Amino acid sequence: MKTQNLGYPRIGSQRQLKKACEQYWTGKIDLNELNQVARKLKEENWQTQLDAGIDLIPCNDFSFYDQTLDMSLLLGVIPQRYSQVLTEVKTNQETDLYFAMARGYQKDGLDITAMEMTKWLDTNYHYLVPEFTAKQKFSIFSEKVFGEYNAAKRVLGTKAKPVLIGPVSYLLLGKEKEQGFERIDLIKQLVPVYVEIINRLRLQGAVWIQLDEPCLALDLSKKEKEAFEFAYRSIANRVSGVKLLVATYFESLLDNTALAVNLPVAALHVDLVRAPEQLDEVLALIPDHLQLSLGIVDGRNVWKNDYEKSLQLINKAVEKLGTDRVIIAPSCSLLHCPIDLELESTIDPEIRNWMAYARQKLDEVAALQQITEGNADLLQLNKAAIASRRSSEKVHKQAVKDRIASITEADATRSSAFPVRQQLHRERFKFPAFPTTTIGSFPQTDDIRQLRAKYKKGDLSLEAYEQAIEQATIEAIRWQEEIGLDVLVHGEFERNDMVEYFGEQLDGFLFTKNGWVQSYGSRCVKPPVIYGDVSRPKDMTVRWSKFAAAQTEKQMKGMLTGPVTILQWSFVRDDQPREVTTNQIALGIRDEVLALEEAGIGIVQIDEAAIREGLPLRKSKRPHYLDWAVRAFRITAGGVQDKTQVHTHMCYSEFNDIIEHIAAMDADVITIETSRSQMELLQAFAHFEYPNEIGPGVYDIHSPRVPTTEEMVALLSKAADLLPAENLWVNPDCGLKTRKWPETKAALENMVAAAKLAREQISVEGVI
Ligand code: GLN
Ligand code: ZN
Repeated sequence: MKTQNLGYPRIGSQRQLKKACEQYWTGKIDLNELNQVARKLKEENWQTQLDAGIDLIPCNDFSFYDQTLDMSLLLGVIPQRYSQVLTEVKTNQETDLYFAMARGYQKDGLDITAMEMTKWLDTNYHYLVPEFTAKQKFSIFSEKVFGEYNAAKRVLGTKAKPVLIGPVSYLLLGKEKEQGFERIDLIKQLVPVYVEIINRLRLQGAVWIQLDEPCLALDLSKKEKEAFEFAYRSIANRVSGVKLLVATYFESLLDNTALAVNLPVAALHVDLVRAPEQLDEVLALIPDHLQLSLGIVDGRNVWKNDYEKSLQLINKAVEKLGTDRVIIAPSCSLLHCPIDLELESTIDPEIRNWMAYARQKLDEVAALQQITEGNADLLQLNKAAIASRRSSEKVHKQAVKDRIASITEADATRSSAFPVRQQLHRERFKFPAFPTTTIGSFPQTDDIRQLRAKYKKGDLSLEAYEQAIEQATIEAIRWQEEIGLDVLVHGEFERNDMVEYFGEQLDGFLFTKNGWVQSYGSRCVKPPVIYGDVSRPKDMTVRWSKFAAAQTEKQMKGMLTGPVTILQWSFVRDDQPREVTTNQIALGIRDEVLALEEAGIGIVQIDEAAIREGLPLRKSKRPHYLDWAVRAFRITAGGVQDKTQVHTHMCYSEFNDIIEHIAAMDADVITIETSRSQMELLQAFAHFEYPNEIGPGVYDIHSPRVPTTEEMVALLSKAADLLPAENLWVNPDCGLKTRKWPETKAALENMVAAAKLAREQISVEGVI
């Protein structure tokens, strides 16, 4: 039985790549030095995998910014607007072109925008979206993959396996930049270039080549299925002497199983962590020649593999295929998990013993191979760790489980229906038409950040820290009063991050020192780890909300992060369904909502910024997800009295396919991001006749640009054409944390002025 790996984190255990790239961008190091850092990282990674005993080791999984961008350069898919970079720039042309595509180019009198970035399937990794035109040409442009294979071969010999994104997924993950064609039709022009690349790699000595085709595990149209057949048949006809491995991940093959197993390739990789149930179907349909790579070590999480469970899957496959045709592997590229658990010195040793990062996952793959060859000790050790986690009191809290079991429908439902609540809110708050508010955070200045850094280091006392935060809060409140906002916020100066702030105060979470994963380019994130039953030992935000409310006569909105968003931006325990963990968080947030209400806060906002990004890749799995995600929100909000107004906020605006679920959340007010789409995306709400109140963002906070009063009035009047004016709120697209004060002040002053004009110009019924 062979082992393989699909991809390894490239940022380096000390985030060397991030630092080197950023230094190159600011001119602190030259291309030579940058390449030196890259070479060292690659060689170390190869050596690590070799030492772990992996048989097929990826190369070309390294990237300075993003592997999809690397593919675009390899295939010569370079949008027209970058051609000037090549003519104007004399040195480091290819590298500068590459980074120009990634980050935009503002130099030498040129001003070219970056390529669009979007999430890689359902991960938090972002890739650069390939841009296609109707007459798109493909030809080899970058030599990176060939150089990298040669370098890998020197270290790894025949174990070196170049990795490419497969032709069909490459097209499907891109987008058309002009009308009149479908990008999938470009497959005919694209395949010959893949043939050329594969043949060159074969001549260089490659024995195996990995083609990532994650789209093979998604819902496919007939045409897209045909594209798979066409592409791989054409390649098989024109390539020989090299073994192709098609890798799928993140979902089950489902209705694409027959298509996938019959592609004329040497091996197929399936994700048995996400979708273990697909193994039976794959084994039932697999033809005699095909090797099967079992993705059994979770490449998306930080938990130790349960060898007994994995061995069941391995044994089942071996029974049918024999050991020669089975390969053991992580479920997907290890890009999505942190690098080395050995660098974590502060995690509770008991919990640490349940965890594995990328390096440890390689060992797990190798260990599973050794166990099948008779090494019983490795299995015993693993069983002990798994058993300790299963029974640990750090994980399992009976009180939490009992409470989850006793949640009723009534807990997830407000006492009265929205119209009754709306009337109570109108009487209680007496807001004017088009009430104004913001989404929560105000600019986090360097001063505030330094303050927190000092406090965390121990260089500043808690009192001094809190006093400074109080001062910032008071100033923000005074200023909001001056410009005449209707619903104020405290500004979130005490929070570093909207998930971390709550994770640090809830039981069941831990924070790592080195658990970095790449988010995009040089940006890395360090998600919290949810290891145990979640509960809320004490109030989390009441102190700040109460303090803020006491400074003003106006309404002060309490500000919380919702359970799905906390889940989505963390590493989640894998020993119970995600919805159970979400409900536990929901109960914690629910208690906080009630504590705020008790403290006299009349309006509470529960942000669910990430509800949409948790949507399963397969349509058939979406209803179940939406049901539990919406219910979790309803649990957080369901306990308050009718007179309390619950807001929610979402950082996007594509609601077409989920609008009925958004309505089912039954928030009294929802604020969303609509300014850039010119309110077009409100159509979904209009069409659905969304009944509750809604604040479509009128100010794009992603740019320092200050919107004019007139353009915001125009947006409001568009919104009023689509929805009842008496249900409309006036607010920015999102929080203002990343903005600077001057532009924020100017924009919000204009926004308040816009609301005043709207009150004069747009007729409104029903508001007192
Ligand atoms: N309340 C948060 C803020 O204003 C919301 C941020 C978000 O939606 N991403 O920063
Ligand atoms: Zn937002």
